Amino acid sequence: MQDIADSNNTCPRCGSPLGEIMTTKSGRQMQRCSTGSWNPTTKKAEGCPYVKWFDVSPKELDEKCPKCGSPLLLVVTRFDKRLKRCSTNKWDPQTRTSSGCDYVEWLKGTTENLNEDCPKCGNKLMLYTSASGKQLKKCSTNKWDPEERVSTGCDFVQWIN
Ligand SMILES: [Zn+2]
Ligand SMILES: [Zn+2]
Ligand SMILES: [Zn+2]
Repeated sequence: MQDIADSNNTCPRCGSPLGEIMTTKSGRQMQRCSTGSWNPTTKKAEGCPYVKWFDVSPKELDEKCPKCGSPLLLVVTRFDKRLKRCSTNKWDPQTRTSSGCDYVEWLKGTTENLNEDCPKCGNKLMLYTSASGKQLKKCSTNKWDPEERVSTGCDFVQWIN
């Protein structure tokens, strides 16, 4: 893990100063080279492609590891995936092995019933939280048919973040 405090503010690729620290939608922090920028139309980085990601500190959860009983940590990866892992697990960058308990649980999307009516059809809404922490409200009558690859029912969707 890099020490954030000791980071100098110059791009290691081109020597230009780094831009402002920005926070992504999922709460991760990154800093882009000031000569580079993200073009949302072409979905490509222009100029210097250097991006520095800050590690999100794992958060201790009020949950116990099912394998060893130690507290679990909530970790957000570079790729915005969330996982729970055992707090006794340590990664040794020298030997490239991990030690301690190897319990890992990847978080998938969760749904929760809401006490709100769908503005389109009057049925109840559901709150869906994706593995990367994005949330949307959708109609509880909406179902995904994996065989036909179509969604059925009411198509009301409201993104929250
Ligand atoms: Zn640069
Ligand atoms: Zn454990
Ligand atoms: Zn509906």
